[in-house]
Amino acid sequence: MKIFKFGGASVKNADGVRNLAAIVEREEGELVVVVSAMGKTTNLLETLCDAYFHRRGDTDVIMRRLREYHRDIMRELFAADDAVYGELEELLALLDGVLAGESAMCYDYEYDRIVSFGELISTTIVSAYLRREGVDNRFVDVRRCLKTDASYRNANVDLELSGALCRGVFDFQSERIYVTQGFIAGTRTNQTTTLGREGSDYTAALLANLLDAESVTIWKDVPGVMNADPKEYPQAKVIGRMSYKEAIELSHFGAKVIHPKTIKPIQNKRIPLYVKSFLYPEVEGTVIAEVDEPLRLPPILINKGGQCLLTLTPRDFSFIAEEKLSKIFAVLAKYKLKLNLMQNSAISFSFCVDCNGALFEAFIRELQEEFEVLYNRDVRLLTIRHYTEAAIREIVGDRVPLVEQRSRLTAQFVIQN
Ligand code: ASP
Ligand code: MG
Repeated sequence: MKIFKFGGASVKNADGVRNLAAIVEREEGELVVVVSAMGKTTNLLETLCDAYFHRRGDTDVIMRRLREYHRDIMRELFAADDAVYGELEELLALLDGVLAGESAMCYDYEYDRIVSFGELISTTIVSAYLRREGVDNRFVDVRRCLKTDASYRNANVDLELSGALCRGVFDFQSERIYVTQGFIAGTRTNQTTTLGREGSDYTAALLANLLDAESVTIWKDVPGVMNADPKEYPQAKVIGRMSYKEAIELSHFGAKVIHPKTIKPIQNKRIPLYVKSFLYPEVEGTVIAEVDEPLRLPPILINKGGQCLLTLTPRDFSFIAEEKLSKIFAVLAKYKLKLNLMQNSAISFSFCVDCNGALFEAFIRELQEEFEVLYNRDVRLLTIRHYTEAAIREIVGDRVPLVEQRSRLTAQFVIQN
């Protein structure tokens, strides 16, 4: 059995859904198709959740956009009397029901209830379209069998329970193909949860692990994992093969091609992960798998924006030593900020973090209680894996890095935007 995962970009319009169907049709064996919300639907639902929670009056406008976007796609795919329109209306009525109620006091709980409709709608459309094309399949509401705790927006999966439930649901007894949602899940008491933005890759990997899939394929708008962002570097090349470890490192440093949580579940069972282009499905792409001997990889550039560089100096006469560092880490953990690079001297500690957190100002204020804080919010972090001097010259050029760090395989530069 294989897992195919299609992201939002692959199903952003009717052509995308047709293309998905063509890829699925070519497959002869057992298959689980994991689908994200169409296009930018999740962003739209985030604005809907915000409007609802903060009682702004524009939920109707957003609902109309949501309905029209999906109906436009459906009109190109289905006859006017197809039952799928009714299914869409049923889902929208459920969502309307949520919006009509008084919101709970927990934003994250409401967020998951609302945002999950993106995937419920996309999979309803995809499943119906496949059936219309003669591809029998079963629609699965994954919330029934992928069970998590109640950490809304970033839920933790109960692997044991989910394993037992998923094996019962995806049993391949009377069906060869299943269609289900990425990103969303449910608690034991059937509350909806989500696994974090862009979490559909993670769903695919979890299902692969729980169902012992033979492989996972993530269908993308790029031809595989590349050694730089092709939008910035047209000469970027596909890396044909890499180890799980390399893939984890790349996503840790900010490569967006795969979600960081994706690799562990498949690595544990040695399931290969293919990253392929949905536009050119016959092209090989990248395989991430167990490799025996070290692979010779080209320099790989990860360019991570949205960074803040902070330099802390203790206000008292103390040095930056273990006690101060543990305080800094405690504050970082409290604000759930991702630390991307750090460097210390006797009396200062510099580090780079993602600075998009809503509580960033509060984070800085808390540090200021004990440290002199200098910060620069307009920086990016360039990471070059498998660097060469020539690659560094080409990428960094004559820019003078604010901080620079090298290990055997990785060179990093913090530069002003
Ligand atoms: N639809 C969700 C998001 O946009 C999950 C995903 O695309 O993987 O974040
Ligand atoms: Mg997405």
